[in-house]
Amino acid sequence: MAVKKYNKKTLGKFKKILDEERDRINEDLSYQKNELNKTITDGSGELSSATYHMADVGTDMAEREKTSIFAVRQSKYLNEVDDALERVDEGTYGVCIICGELIEEGRLEAVPIAKYHVSCKETQNQRNHNQ
Ligand SMILES: [Zn+2]
Repeated sequence: MAVKKYNKKTLGKFKKILDEERDRINEDLSYQKNELNKTITDGSGELSSATYHMADVGTDMAEREKTSIFAVRQSKYLNEVDDALERVDEGTYGVCIICGELIEEGRLEAVPIAKYHVSCKETQNQRNHNQ
């Protein structure tokens, strides 16, 4: 099977997209870390107050949980972006890991971390489902 690859120019374009994506996530993550620290500090200062504050604490906890779930998701996404950047360096970026054909540029622009065709993934899901 012939090895399919995107040319350097196209790879360079996606490297730039991925780099920007990584910067954006890193910014998001450090912002969220600050927010988490802030919530923890604010919360501890109010613990001695009346019981009806419990509702506030509950909301705080929910907020904090939401933020950390988001942060976990962002971290996972960051890993995917790093993986994709590695594939750019190796020259294998944009190649479907399932069928070995090139993924359309349009899909990569929409989902820069895409590793496979939507149709290939669906076929694979069906196979997994049957197991
Ligand atoms: Zn494919």
